[in-house]
Amino acid sequence: MRKPIIAGNWKMNKTKAEAVSFLQDVKNSVPAADKVDSVVCSPDLFLDALVQEAEGTDVHIAAQNMHFEDNGAFTGETSPAALKDLGVTFVVLGHSERRDMFGETDESVNKKVKAALNHGLTPIVCVGETLDERESDKTNDVVTKQVNGALEGLTEDQVKGIVVAYEPVWAIGTGKTATSEQANDTCSVIRAALANTFSAETADQVRIQYGGSVKPANIQELLGQSDIDGALVGGASLEADSFLKLAEAG
Ligand code: 13P
Repeated sequence: MRKPIIAGNWKMNKTKAEAVSFLQDVKNSVPAADKVDSVVCSPDLFLDALVQEAEGTDVHIAAQNMHFEDNGAFTGETSPAALKDLGVTFVVLGHSERRDMFGETDESVNKKVKAALNHGLTPIVCVGETLDERESDKTNDVVTKQVNGALEGLTEDQVKGIVVAYEPVWAIGTGKTATSEQANDTCSVIRAALANTFSAETADQVRIQYGGSVKPANIQELLGQSDIDGALVGGASLEADSFLKLAEAG
């Protein structure tokens, strides 16, 4: 049985005071960590304060990106070692906004996934097709290539520990959710790709989230699908009440 994972991706939102106040509002009310993984993905600036605020609670704190090198001349970047040292436990990698606006490729995501695992951070690896790709029937090929690219060279044990987030680009921030059937179909394609490249046993253990206009009103139906094990939520994760409803649905 795969444990549900509900992650709020704040993107570039909130001030430090707002971030800490959100954590104070949710930290004692999220479901127990043995039932659901509740994850807050924050801008780097607030990670330290949030990890401290979350200490001893069932909230995990995640970064939204990182560099793959341990250190060096990479102005403005954050290293996996620094995240680990702060007490961060998850890291979102290859989000479509980073692929689209900041030049992320399957190759750079692959380096980051390996670096995260080497530092004991759990990667949440994002994949998903654009509207053009869906309309020209390329969805399955696109997500299969992204999954295989991101996980190239990993051992089965490493793959078992990662999380994949299927986020169709056309559903992000648009209010257009993939139907639960569409979402599940593509999550099944991702699981089949994992089975094909690694093994059925490994694929069966990987948690696959859906992301794209998830909100309290539609999360239950999405989570009811056989291959959807959680959600990666942008807009609807910004308010504490809404985040709690999402986590409780997990
Ligand atoms: P929305 O939930 O705002 O559509 O964003 C989804 C997303 O990109 C989460 O990473």
